[in-house]
Amino acid sequence: MIEFKKLHKKFGKLIVLDGLDLHIAKGGIFAVLGPNGSGKTTLIKSLLGMVIPNKGDIFFNGKSVLKKWDYRNDLNYLPQIANFPPNLTVIELINMVKNLRPKKANEKELIELFGLQGFLQKKLGTLSGGTKQKVNLVLTFMFDSELIILDEPTTGLDPIALIHLKDLIQKEKDKGKTILITTHIMSVVDELADEIVFLLDGKIYFKGSIDALKKQTNNTNLERAIANLISKQYA
Ligand code: ADP
Ligand code: MG
Repeated sequence: MIEFKKLHKKFGKLIVLDGLDLHIAKGGIFAVLGPNGSGKTTLIKSLLGMVIPNKGDIFFNGKSVLKKWDYRNDLNYLPQIANFPPNLTVIELINMVKNLRPKKANEKELIELFGLQGFLQKKLGTLSGGTKQKVNLVLTFMFDSELIILDEPTTGLDPIALIHLKDLIQKEKDKGKTILITTHIMSVVDELADEIVFLLDGKIYFKGSIDALKKQTNNTNLERAIANLISKQYA
C-alpha cells in the first residue's frame, strides 16, 4: 500500500532520513518505533506532503505522492502536536473539520466513547492536554478512510481512554484498514502491532513481527528486546 524508496531528508546539516526503504502492506497495524528524534514524525509527514524529501520517492497505492494532493482524501491523520484555535469551542472545531471534508462523519459515537459530551461548549484553549488529545482522536477517527496514521496517539490519555483507543484501533483493523502508528507505549505495540519497524540513524534498523524481534534478540519482553537491539548496534 505504501512504499518509501531511497528516501533522504536533511534539515540543514542534520541527516534525518538516509536512503530509507520501507514497504507497508495493506491491512493490519504497523508500528514505527525509534528513539526521540529518530525521524518517525518526519517519515510520516513526508508521506503526507508536509515535509518534502531531498531525494527518493513515496508511493501510495502504486502512485507517487510527490506534488499530489488527491490521495489525502483516502487517509486520516492524527498529528503528534495538535495546535487547535484556542477560542473555538470543541463542537465548533468538530463541525468546522466536518465541513472541510466531503465525507460522512460519525463523531457522535466517538464523543460518547471518550466522554466528551460535557466539553463540547468549552473553548479549546481551556482544555487539559488529555482532553485535547481526545478531541484530536475524534477528529481523526470520525471519517472512514482506508489508511489511518497516528503519531503518538496515546499522549496524555488516562488509562480508560487508552483502553478505548486500543479497542478503536483494533476495530478499524478488523474492518480491513491499514493503521500506521508511532508510540512509546510498549503495551500498545505488544497488544496491537502486526509488524514493527525500528528507525535508527535514518534507516530501518529492524522490520518484522514482534515474535521475530523477540527471537532475534533472545528476549521475551518487548521493551528489553528493543533495548537489546539498540545496544547491539552500539556495542
Ligand atoms: P521523532 O518523531 O522520531 O521524535 P522527528 O522526525 O520529529 O523525530 O525529528 C527528527 C529530527 O529532525 C530531530 O532531530 C528534529 O529536531 C529534526 N527536525 C524535525 N523537523 C524539523 C524542522 N522542520 N526543522 C529542523 N529540524 C527538524
Ligand atoms: Mg515524533
